[in-house]
Amino acid sequence: VIKDKHGSNYNIFESSISEKFKAMLTMESELRKALKYDQFELHYQPQKCLTSNKIVGVEALLRWKHPVKGYIPPGEFIGLAEKTGLIIDIGDWVMNEACRENKAWQDKGFQPMTVSVNLSAKQFYQRELVDKVKKTLQNTGLSPEYLELEITETMAMTNEENILETMYHLRKLGVTVSIDDFGTGYSSFKYLSVFPVTKLKIDKMFINENQKQNQAIVKSIIHMSHSLDMKVIAEGVETIEQLRFLTKEKCDEMQGFYFSKPLPPEKLTKWFRTIG
Ligand code: C2E
Ligand code: MG
Ligand code: MG
Ligand code: MG
Repeated sequence: VIKDKHGSNYNIFESSISEKFKAMLTMESELRKALKYDQFELHYQPQKCLTSNKIVGVEALLRWKHPVKGYIPPGEFIGLAEKTGLIIDIGDWVMNEACRENKAWQDKGFQPMTVSVNLSAKQFYQRELVDKVKKTLQNTGLSPEYLELEITETMAMTNEENILETMYHLRKLGVTVSIDDFGTGYSSFKYLSVFPVTKLKIDKMFINENQKQNQAIVKSIIHMSHSLDMKVIAEGVETIEQLRFLTKEKCDEMQGFYFSKPLPPEKLTKWFRTIG
C-alpha cells in the first residue's frame, strides 16, 4: 500500500476503479460474444385491455442468457451497451426478433396484437432508424400497426426537433410510439401535445405504492392522456386493488405481475391457450 504525503492510502480506491474498469471491459467483450453466439432472448409481458378484457399487446423485454451466470436482466447490461454503441446491433436484433415472433404468432392463428419494443436514446437518434424499421417490417412481414416503439420521456424532450421528425415518419409508416416510464422524467406538456405519441405508460413507481398522492397523480395522467387523445397503460400492476382502482379510473390497459410476468415465447403461447 502506497501512502501519499498526507498519510492516506488511496491505493484501495485506485484498485477498485481498475477492478470496475476490468469488469466493464470483460462485459463488453462478453456482450459482443453474446450477439455472435445468439445468447440474447426476448421475453414477453402481456398487456391487457381493461374494457375488452383481451390481451392487446406484449412488451418485448431483453434477457441475456449468459453461459455461466445464467439470465442477466437488462438493467445490468443496457447501460454499458449504450456507452459502447453495442446497443445499435443489439437493438437491431431485438426489433427483428420481436417482429418475426409476432408475425409467427399471427400465422399460428393467435389473435393479432401489438409488440412493444424499447428503444434507447442512441437507437432513436440514428438517422436510418425509420428505414431500418421499414425494412424490418418488410423482411418479417409484420403489419406496421402491430409494432409499437417505446421511448422515454427524457429522450422525447431532448433534441425535440429531430425527435419530432422521426416520430412523424414512424407514424407515417403506421408504427405507433409510446412514452415509457411516464412521470419519472422531464415532462414538458407543450411537447406532449405536439408529438404524435399514441400512448403513455405510467411508471410502475406510481402504481406500486398505494399512497393517496400517487393515486392522485395516476388519475391526472389518465385524464390528461384522454384529453390529448392518447391511450394510457399502467405498468407494474401487482394487486387486485391496483387493478380495481385503474378500472375505476378508466385506465385503458395494464401490464404487471398481477397478470403475468414476462414469459419466454413457448410459455407465452401456452399461457394464451390457457386463458382461451
Ligand atoms: P421498462 O421498459 O419500463 O420495462 C418494465 C420493467 O418492469 C421490466 O423489467 C419488467 O420485468 C418489470 N415489471 C413488469 N411488471 C412488473 C410488476 O408488476 N412489478 C415490478 N416490480 N416490475 C415489473 P426488466 O425486464 O428488468 O427491464 C428493465 C428495463 O430495461 C426496461 O424497463 C427497459 O427500460 C430496459 N429494456 C428491456 N428490454 C430492452 C430492450 O430490448 N432494449 C432497450 N433499449 N431497453 C430494454
Ligand atoms: Mg418499456
Ligand atoms: Mg417502464
Ligand atoms: Mg424503461
